[in-house]
Amino acid sequence: MALVTVVEHPLVQHKLTLIRKKETSTSSFRNLVAEVGMLLAYEVTRDLPLVYERIETPLASMRAPLLEGKKIVLVSVLRAGQGLLDGMLRILPSARVGHIGLYRDPETLGAVEYYFKIPKEFRDRDAIAVSAMLATGHSAVAAIDRLKQAAPKSIKLVCLLASREGVAHFHEVHPDVPIFTAAIDDHVDEHGYILPGLGDAGDRLFGTK
Ligand code: URA
Repeated sequence: MALVTVVEHPLVQHKLTLIRKKETSTSSFRNLVAEVGMLLAYEVTRDLPLVYERIETPLASMRAPLLEGKKIVLVSVLRAGQGLLDGMLRILPSARVGHIGLYRDPETLGAVEYYFKIPKEFRDRDAIAVSAMLATGHSAVAAIDRLKQAAPKSIKLVCLLASREGVAHFHEVHPDVPIFTAAIDDHVDEHGYILPGLGDAGDRLFGTK
C-alpha cells in the first residue's frame, strides 16, 4: 500500500501486544500508548530538514545540525489521540498542539465535529494529525478535511492501530497524506471496532468503562 509506514520495530510490536491484551490495566495501557507515541514520533519526523549552525562546545567550535523551520503542530483527534500525543510531546517538547473533537454517529458511523482549535501561523507549519484508531477511516478523513481547510505546509497522520479498510478509505480521499501506524488489522466489525484490535481506545485510556 502506498504511503503507509508500519513501524515494525520490535519495541513497538512488543508494546502493542501488551496494549491489545484485555487484562492490561488502565495505567499500564496509558503508559504503553505514550511509549508507542514516542517511538512513532521518532519515525514520523525522520525526514525533517536540518540546518547547520556554528556552535561552541566546551572544547571546540563546530557546525552542528538543528531542526529547520517553525515548530511542528501535533493535532490530536479527541479523545483517544491524547494518549499518543502525551508520548509524542515527550520527544517533541516544543511542538505546538491543536485539537479536533469528532464523535462517531452510532447510526451512520460518520464523523460529526464538535471542537476545533489550532495554533496560530498554522499555514507556515508542518502538521501531524494524531488519531488512535483508523477503523472505518471516517473520523480521520473528516479530521484531515478540516486541517486541509486551514492549509498547513504539510500533513501526516499517525495512528496507533489501523484497519485494512480504514487505510484504503482514507487514501481514496486523501492519497497525499502518509500514514504511520504500529499495525494494520484485518477487519472492522458492524459497530466500527477494529478486530482483533484493542477494544475502545478512549475507554481503556481513561478508564471510562
Ligand atoms: N475506536 C476505538 O476506540 N476502537 C476501535 O477498534 C475502533 C475505533
